[in-house]
Amino acid sequence: MTESVSLNNIDEGDYQESNLADAIRATMKRDKKRFWAGDNISDYVKENDKKILIEEATRAFEGVLDTLLIDRETDPNSQGTARRLAKMYFNEIMAGRYDPAPDATAFPNDSEDRYEGMLVVRSELRSMCSHHHQPVSGVAYIGIIAAAKLIGLSKYTRIAQWCARRGTLQEELCNDIAREIMRATDSENIGVYIQAEHGCCTNRGIMAHSSLTQTTVLRGAFLTDPGTKKEFFDNIKLQQEFAPR
Ligand SMILES: [Zn+2]
Repeated sequence: MTESVSLNNIDEGDYQESNLADAIRATMKRDKKRFWAGDNISDYVKENDKKILIEEATRAFEGVLDTLLIDRETDPNSQGTARRLAKMYFNEIMAGRYDPAPDATAFPNDSEDRYEGMLVVRSELRSMCSHHHQPVSGVAYIGIIAAAKLIGLSKYTRIAQWCARRGTLQEELCNDIAREIMRATDSENIGVYIQAEHGCCTNRGIMAHSSLTQTTVLRGAFLTDPGTKKEFFDNIKLQQEFAPR
């Protein structure tokens, strides 16, 4: 694989890495770019790099399966597993680390009859805990007081899912969604409430099948004005009554 390694961001004089992941990691360290499981590193991973990284991750997952003493030569169900895992990590369950932010075209909301009320959007979430790589599934309620621009309704969910498709902690995910929605809308008044089930509590550990984790992040009026906060949680209750989950 060494010859086909692309070195987009790499100063070849400084790093003599034998694979692309090592080279990209060295560049991020040099730039002091954080690359935790919940961080987006799309500035460092170009679209063409992904193919090579999937190839490298396939080799690495083959090593893990071998160490687990799973026969990937004769077990038909395990033959393509290393590649499936590699593709799944890059293209699905951790796609939000490698893909740039979804583009959220903003529309002006500054005419005389502009919308000034609260907007509450419910977004389905699928994520993965960064401690155990177990699935996290739930919903985020995103509340916002409309500012001078508005984004399309589906964009709230796209942004939330982009933040969720990484290795996350629910507390951090709540903060990440609030920050990215503020960035996309310029609104300073945001509330994000997430309730989710964690595979690391249901599939292992305490095996608690009904466990639900709730987190809330409030900014601006959602934090300082009790009326706004109450309206947000009343809206959430109304949504849950309308379509329980
Ligand atoms: Zn966990």
